[in-house]
Amino acid sequence: MKIMKFGGTSVGKPERMHQVKDLITRDDQRKIVVLSALSGTTNALVSIGEALADAKKDLAKERIDSLHQHYLTFYKELLTTDAARSKAENIIKEHFEFLNIILKISFNEAINRDILAQGELLSTKLFYTLLQELGIEAVFLPALDFMSIDENSEPELKKIAEKLKLILANYPGERIFVTQGYICKNHRNEVDNLKRGGSDYSASLIGAAINADVVEIWTDIDGMHNNDPRVVEKTRPIAQLSFDEAAELAYFGAKILHPASIWPAQQYNIPVKLLNTMEPDAAGTTITGKEQGTGVKALAAKDGITAIKIKSSRMLLAYGFLRKVFEVFEKYKTSIDMITTSEVAVSVTIDDLSHLAEIVKELEAYGLVEVDKNQTIISVVGNMIAESEGTLAKIMNSLNAYPIRMVSYGGSRHNVSLLLDAQFKNNALKSLNEGLFEW
Ligand code: ADP
Ligand code: ASP
Ligand code: MG
Repeated sequence: MKIMKFGGTSVGKPERMHQVKDLITRDDQRKIVVLSALSGTTNALVSIGEALADAKKDLAKERIDSLHQHYLTFYKELLTTDAARSKAENIIKEHFEFLNIILKISFNEAINRDILAQGELLSTKLFYTLLQELGIEAVFLPALDFMSIDENSEPELKKIAEKLKLILANYPGERIFVTQGYICKNHRNEVDNLKRGGSDYSASLIGAAINADVVEIWTDIDGMHNNDPRVVEKTRPIAQLSFDEAAELAYFGAKILHPASIWPAQQYNIPVKLLNTMEPDAAGTTITGKEQGTGVKALAAKDGITAIKIKSSRMLLAYGFLRKVFEVFEKYKTSIDMITTSEVAVSVTIDDLSHLAEIVKELEAYGLVEVDKNQTIISVVGNMIAESEGTLAKIMNSLNAYPIRMVSYGGSRHNVSLLLDAQFKNNALKSLNEGLFEW
């Protein structure tokens, strides 16, 4: 079996949904089709939740109505028969009635997650209606029946696999299954999600759960590019990446992949392909366990980083110091991205600021604490970077004009990370683009 995941832009217009239909019926292989919400929908749902959290019901209502209008136009272009259109009307009615009921009850976080789930529910149901209209046999697979996370918001891969296999066993002759990305149930059996961009993660988890032949991520660009195409003009797709390289790029900001989406595929050695819905025959990027080529392959940048420096004359010479520092972060379930040390200080970076005040307070017991917000990690990713001659010099020369706050080099063979103030990010990415790649 294979997994075919289509992102928001790939299902965002009626004609694109038709293209997705063509792509999933091009071959006879059994497949699970994972869909995101139509582009713009999850952002709209987030903004509805924000209005409700601020007790601005009128604003929430305005946003619900405007989204509703979008769907009322969408289904008429998507479907042609009366039967299918009437099904779509009922689907849209059901989900917008739900949103309107929420306006009347008291808002909380669990309800917010319910709101966020509406996008993927709508897109999959409308797509399934299209398949029915065209007489394409398929099975609708509700993700909430099998996708789950534990109390630490970690996916329960074993449980997911058990449930999914049981469900699939009911349909031995069926070839196409349609399910939602992003949404899941949590340990309280409430509707939850895998965080923004989480449909990639769903696809990879489903791939791992059923030991798929391949996980295909269909999006709006022809694969992983060697730099962020939203920032840098000249970029090109990379044909091949190892799981480790792709994981580094995803984790350090390449938006094309959810930060955690590589490990499930990597664990079961399932190739991941990044493909372009708008250009289906382009080669895209293939991600496998194989390490190919040496040197720098790509750059990525992760925003919203905060650096914390703990300065203490009692530091490194005293064994156990770092453990104490790390325990503070562990206590507040805050993960550290980068670490650098000197004799008298240690700097770390985090991206989750929910417990910053408590963390700083506890760290003050060990030394002087300084916090720098609005930082960006730029990651240079490739194979054997640490060993490849001249690379570090090229990186540093390219960044001559910018103050670098931290450097992490040699931690793995795949990554050199640099921390800069966010204001330098775009220019730094451009300079590195010129300094590291031949054009
Ligand atoms: P989808 O909705 O299909 O999940 P996303 O918007 O999440 O699509 O991801 C695709 C986008 O990621 C591209 O349109 C591109 O702008 C952005 N992107 C950022 N960095 C990269 C990169 N290194 N390579 C390719 N795309 C990237
Ligand atoms: N719809 C969700 C989002 O916009 C999940 C996804 O698209 O991957 O974040
Ligand atoms: Mg995405």
